[in-house]
Amino acid sequence: MRVLHVAAEVFPLVKTGGLADVVAALPAAQAQQGAEVRMLLPGLPSVMDGVQHARPVIDIGSCFGALRVRLLLARMPGTALPVYVLDAPYLYRRAGSPYGNHAGEEWPDNLQRFALLGWVAAHLAADDADLRWRADIVHAHDWHAALACAHVADHPAGEVRSVFTIHNMAFQGLFPLHDWPLLGLASRHMSPAGLEFHGQLSFMKAGLQYAHRITTVSPTYAREIATPEFGFGLDGAIRSRAGEVVGILNGVDAELWNPATDAAIPERYDLKRPQGKTTCRRALQAELGLAVDEKSLVLAVISRLSAQKGLDLLLAALPQLVAAGVQLVVQGGGDASLEAAFRMAQEVHPGRVHVHIGYDEARAHRIIAGADAIAVPSRFEPCGLTQMYGLRYGTLPIVRRVGGLADTVHDAATALGNGFVFDEATPTALASAVQRAARLRATEPQAWTLMQERGMAADLAWAGSARRYLQLYQEAAGGLAGPGSEVGR
Ligand code: ADP
Repeated sequence: MRVLHVAAEVFPLVKTGGLADVVAALPAAQAQQGAEVRMLLPGLPSVMDGVQHARPVIDIGSCFGALRVRLLLARMPGTALPVYVLDAPYLYRRAGSPYGNHAGEEWPDNLQRFALLGWVAAHLAADDADLRWRADIVHAHDWHAALACAHVADHPAGEVRSVFTIHNMAFQGLFPLHDWPLLGLASRHMSPAGLEFHGQLSFMKAGLQYAHRITTVSPTYAREIATPEFGFGLDGAIRSRAGEVVGILNGVDAELWNPATDAAIPERYDLKRPQGKTTCRRALQAELGLAVDEKSLVLAVISRLSAQKGLDLLLAALPQLVAAGVQLVVQGGGDASLEAAFRMAQEVHPGRVHVHIGYDEARAHRIIAGADAIAVPSRFEPCGLTQMYGLRYGTLPIVRRVGGLADTVHDAATALGNGFVFDEATPTALASAVQRAARLRATEPQAWTLMQERGMAADLAWAGSARRYLQLYQEAAGGLAGPGSEVGR
């Protein structure tokens, strides 16, 4: 089975969130299981700099507003997995995130930037770009790659099958409808049965309508996005593909996130040598200028700061939590008002609250290893990774019962308890879950240790989910074309 993963991000080359972790770990796990896996990425500056042994495959010439587009074949650093890189300097070589500038404004030509990605993916899969390789499956991740599914459906060769994974329904890639001629797709796709979405053009819909199979990153989120509350207007499109939408839980890169081997933390530990966690905890408190004591619950947050993540609830609950002796460590960035509010919280609670606005991978490892608990109070959460990193590191997750959080964390009051779960998106519900955690840690250390051990012993590795995706590819390849495939022929 030859698989082409198409995405805008991959760890460690370019990462704004969990998508990058998934796109790094899933192909590697599938390759270990015998699949012939390659990736296609836009040639962002860090991708051009980070890939190894790049060589040209084909000169595509000028298209999608770029004067010069070349396809390169290279190797991923670390895994040596083959990766195609779209070298289009005019479209991709800019300082900023894959999606916008440092000020948070989206690039004005994102339509062309990601239309090119999908178009090349489909041609590459169908043997039109690299004469030495073609794919059986194009696996498109999020809206950035979704147009590949429409092109695959349109392609006369018809052997390729597409799978579309929704990593977050909130980001849909919406553009003015009148820009459709820039896409390189036939006008018949510009209807509500195609890409049109309430007078706009939706890249996400190209995945939802034309992919042969749709997946999302947890079983609970797969059910949630079929409802108006979580569907962001596309719940109807999801329901219309009922039976073809599957939730497959993300895994954890077990080598990268392993306290027994983690080079970023002050002392390594595992189930047999748990005392290293105490060293990490003390070192973290000292490093961040928090009172070095054994009693406080050290609560961590590693997150984008956005309304999705429910961190306004944490801010509202903070005075009560600090009064109850909780120490809070926050690392994140994003929404300017949330950044300012967290900075302020640090000023108001010196020695109790530490806030780092910014992105720092090694620091995230030290925080997760040193904290007692990690909070993920999201309003919605497709899968969530930091609660799983917490489980691996004996750092008990405190989460809201939504999406992948509901699938991975079980409340202390249940037989399989490995963390703390609350239902309402309110500061009170969050505060009471954190206080339950603090109480349990203080009064029932054995019960706490048992939950830590349960989390650390759990199998969160990618192997099972990677196999599930491979089965799904087989099903898609075995016929059973999605409805959109008819539209495009
Ligand atoms: P999302 O993709 O919605 O942002 P996830 O929990 O799925 O949320 O993935 C977030 C990823 O980004 C995790 O790997 C997390 O550790 C990482 N991350 C988020 N913010 C930071 C930060 N400020 N510093 C380091 N890592 C971060």
